[in-house]
Amino acid sequence: MHPPATVFCDFDGTVTEEDSFDAVAAAVAPELWERLKRQLFAFELTLRQAMAELAAALGPSDLDAMVAHMDRFSPRPGFVPFLDDLEHAGIPFVLVSAGLQPLVERVLAPHRPRLHALVAAQVEPAVGGGLVFHSPWSDGQELVAKARVLDRYGWGRRVVIGDSITDLGMAQVADLVFAREPLCHWLAQRDIAHHRWHDFDDVAAVLRAEGLLPPAAAAAPGSPAADAAARPAPAAG
Ligand SMILES: [Mg+2]
Repeated sequence: MHPPATVFCDFDGTVTEEDSFDAVAAAVAPELWERLKRQLFAFELTLRQAMAELAAALGPSDLDAMVAHMDRFSPRPGFVPFLDDLEHAGIPFVLVSAGLQPLVERVLAPHRPRLHALVAAQVEPAVGGGLVFHSPWSDGQELVAKARVLDRYGWGRRVVIGDSITDLGMAQVADLVFAREPLCHWLAQRDIAHHRWHDFDDVAAVLRAEGLLPPAAAAAPGSPAADAAARPAPAAG
């Protein structure tokens, strides 16, 4: 029997509270990263171009520093209970990050066996210095084109959880979207319906209301989960 849904979840700023890739890129290449981010958020540069430029400016010791920097980060509270809920309901969880595999794995190693798949960009030393980021999921615009990952792994309803620019592509092809800022802003501009979320309890409450997760045993009235379940249908704006 096929699962009723598949959850596709971003990593930086979604599983983690802070955008960890932003923090580690700023730590190793502050000026370059600041410019790349400004151009990315103005849609002047594609995600693929920005990552290629960043990779070329870094070396293997920068990668080591970035990996070590990840020890500051852990999944936001509610992540593990959310994985429990999905597992009980038979809903696969696909972690899909536009960041780098060794950075994501540094944080998610203890939970790795519970993820149906972990998709992120690969990183290798470049011939003649620098680094190369690559991915079998790249397209003309993105190093990791998350919408392609949905096509590959999406059984049943395709549920997307994200927070920023790398999630825009998959949000446009999803059946149910959960977004934090700044992703909400770009979705509203494009009239794409979405639920705003603050923590994984909010997401679980909506999945319960949609019949994808079994009803909570007892969500106390007035609790964040009960409030989220009582929220009206998603707004596009
Ligand atoms: Mg993110």
